[in-house]
Amino acid sequence: MKSSKHKNYHKNYYNIEIPYGNGMLLYNILNKNFVFLNSRYTYLYQNIEELRKSDNQEILKEFLDAEFVLDNSIDERMEYLRNFHLHRWFSKKLLFTIVPTTACNFRCPYCFERGIKYVSMDASIIEKSTKFIEERIKIFKPEEVSVSYYGGEPLLELNKIFKFGYFFKSLQNKYDFRLGADIVTNGYLLSINTVFELYNKANIKSAQITLDGPPRIHDARRFLRGKRKTFDAIYKNISEILASDLDFIIRIRVNVDKTNISYLEELLKILSKLPNREEKLEIYFSPVTGESDRLHKGNRGIFYSEEEFGKVYVNTIIPLLFKYKFDYERYPDISYVFCAGITPFHYLIDSDGSIKKCFDLVGREKESVGHVESYNDGDKRVLKWELFEPLGKECLDCKYLPICGGGCPYKKMQRGENVCEPWRYVLKDLLVKIYELKSSKKVGQ
Ligand code: SF4
Ligand code: SF4
Repeated sequence: MKSSKHKNYHKNYYNIEIPYGNGMLLYNILNKNFVFLNSRYTYLYQNIEELRKSDNQEILKEFLDAEFVLDNSIDERMEYLRNFHLHRWFSKKLLFTIVPTTACNFRCPYCFERGIKYVSMDASIIEKSTKFIEERIKIFKPEEVSVSYYGGEPLLELNKIFKFGYFFKSLQNKYDFRLGADIVTNGYLLSINTVFELYNKANIKSAQITLDGPPRIHDARRFLRGKRKTFDAIYKNISEILASDLDFIIRIRVNVDKTNISYLEELLKILSKLPNREEKLEIYFSPVTGESDRLHKGNRGIFYSEEEFGKVYVNTIIPLLFKYKFDYERYPDISYVFCAGITPFHYLIDSDGSIKKCFDLVGREKESVGHVESYNDGDKRVLKWELFEPLGKECLDCKYLPICGGGCPYKKMQRGENVCEPWRYVLKDLLVKIYELKSSKKVGQ
């Protein structure tokens, strides 16, 4: 074996370097290692030849262990691409999204499903869907199956969810895979009793619920027919679920635009009083952006661009999470394939039995890629998605590729250009913010 003196090394392509004080903040996108280098370490990191000298072998080992420095026999960029292809074509996990109905009890003005027909799955579509699902399981032989109930508002069709729940359990017994399920709901009908039933009958162990601000702001954006309020009922449901013994996770999604950003503090203050929040509550923020523009032409000025949202995330949202003691130390996860829509492993079964590749296309007849009754892997509409090439030259050379994965393929198809994830614009600022918040905490402890 060659000694390190005879080996050659390079800096990991996916390191993020930020000059800071008399040294440098150094972060690796692939493994999330994050350190402050003092001036001596910074000098050695920048002068690999020095690092190779016998006096510096200990420090070299530290850099190698953290993978900030790599042996030249390693090609981290090609390795990422290899993993991208593995995830795209060889997943052992099969994802099904089921839309029991496109009907909804809410009338949110910004909803991307606005204007679609309300259709609930009828008995014949449910039966054909179960046949289709079993077929797919026979073909792919997954080790894990993940089911997501989506809408419209899926809880309007509780019995249909239970039917699918029993069906997936029977398939699990027959084909022996791990089974997980979740639900995306507005939360209004998610009483504690319903959660018990969903847990027991359909294996559902988490729910994504949207809250768009404190009561008056949320109620002005997410209301029932006749503009009736919803916040209090949803909050009561969340509170009871978190207080229960059930091992059930609530993920609160906050849709952010320029009209509710200044109310987020009020919302977080309210949410900070929820019981068991450390163990069972997650909060995340999502911009009302991009394709929403096409639905709200008169309102364009209120949505954030990806870049603007990134700045809001770092400068407003992270400090608020810190202030109200929510998890603020959030580093972006690796995203080998940004969206399962470009793989053969995700099927969204719409309420009319049509198959879609993207959540935003629920209820949009023209965007179907097939139907549970007659699905064909060779259909041009399927191939348009599954063979879509998300990584052009700019992406292949991009340092942020491992946390962007080329971004949302639907936006890319629609706009004909890269739609970079917000991280690209703000990762450095985010790292500095997290580092400084952590340091201030240490000082304050
Ligand atoms: S194509 Fe884009 S919008 Fe549609 S599911 Fe994938 S990431 Fe989401
Ligand atoms: S979409 Fe943008 S941020 Fe993402 S990999 Fe491509 S160039 Fe980089």
